[in-house]
Amino acid sequence: MKQTPSRVRDATSKKLSLVVPVYNEAESLPAFFTVISSTLKMLQEKHRISYEIIFVDDGSSDTSLNQLIDARRDDDNIIILELSRNFGKEAAMVAGLNSVTGDIAVIIDADLQDPPHLIDDFIEAWQEGNDVVYGMRSDRSSDPFLKSLTAALFYSSFNKVSGVKIPAHAGDFRLLDRTVIDDICRLTESNLFMKGLFAWVGYRQKAIAFSRPERLSGRSKYSYWRLWNFAIDGILSFSTAPLRIWTYIGGTVAVCAFIAALLLVFYTLFVGRDVPGYASIMVTLLFMSGVQLVVLGIIGEYLGRIYQETKSRPRYLIKRRHDSTAKTDS
Ligand code: UDP
Ligand code: MG
Repeated sequence: MKQTPSRVRDATSKKLSLVVPVYNEAESLPAFFTVISSTLKMLQEKHRISYEIIFVDDGSSDTSLNQLIDARRDDDNIIILELSRNFGKEAAMVAGLNSVTGDIAVIIDADLQDPPHLIDDFIEAWQEGNDVVYGMRSDRSSDPFLKSLTAALFYSSFNKVSGVKIPAHAGDFRLLDRTVIDDICRLTESNLFMKGLFAWVGYRQKAIAFSRPERLSGRSKYSYWRLWNFAIDGILSFSTAPLRIWTYIGGTVAVCAFIAALLLVFYTLFVGRDVPGYASIMVTLLFMSGVQLVVLGIIGEYLGRIYQETKSRPRYLIKRRHDSTAKTDS
């Protein structure tokens, strides 16, 4: 028989903040409003919680923002942060988290790929004492083969080189306790890799498995090229292994070169001079120049990131905040 775990917290009368990054989701939003409002109604009845929904409009160019403004007319628990352009989902999530006033926050996508009914399970797990509760995909059948393969490769290489381990198949769909929200908001880095930062904060974390449905409508904003860059950003912001590995490779090559030089000297002294050698010299030269360029490229990647960080530009700009207290409200 399933035992009910003991509760260390009580969600009764607490405030739940939903953070929803939105970028060109005009096709998904109507369904999202319907599903989320019935979920919130259920949660209100069950726990008497109050709520706020922070929609972060990440520079949408379709009718998303107008739909959000319309929805706000019917529900003033809705807050809209209108970013000045598209800053990317990572920045949008941070913008949302910075505005959270609730005791717990749930980050959820607007395309209904993160099933809202799971929020109830997240809250249960939070009541059991977990500070971070995240959704973990139980299967990747809704993904194309190439996407599952590259995702698996990414998680295994990230976890090999990074001191912080990120759970495979976990997305951004998660509940965060107030203390964790505060800690995340204190981070000032501009190269945001939230999956890594959510793991970096530590605390008591729990995964809840779910089967991720396909996108209801519209297309994923993440092309393979964008995912590739995202993966590089992630690895470089959590590991210096790509820099360090060259010390070892360089060392090994230097030792081999030294041994080869000794052999060559002995060979020349005892056997005689061997004139042909053009091919081997060219191969070594080309290979080593290639290696040096790659290493320079890697150093450049880090240097570029240090440059970005030193400028300490804000990670996003809020063009307008729509809420019941803001003067700029429409
Ligand atoms: N998103 C965003 N800014 C972006 C890209 C995406 O705010 O630059 C939002 C998007 O509207 C959605 C969520 O992030 O609510 C997840 O995006 P998407 O569904 O494209 O990603 P996937 O589910 O394919 O990983
Ligand atoms: Mg999606």
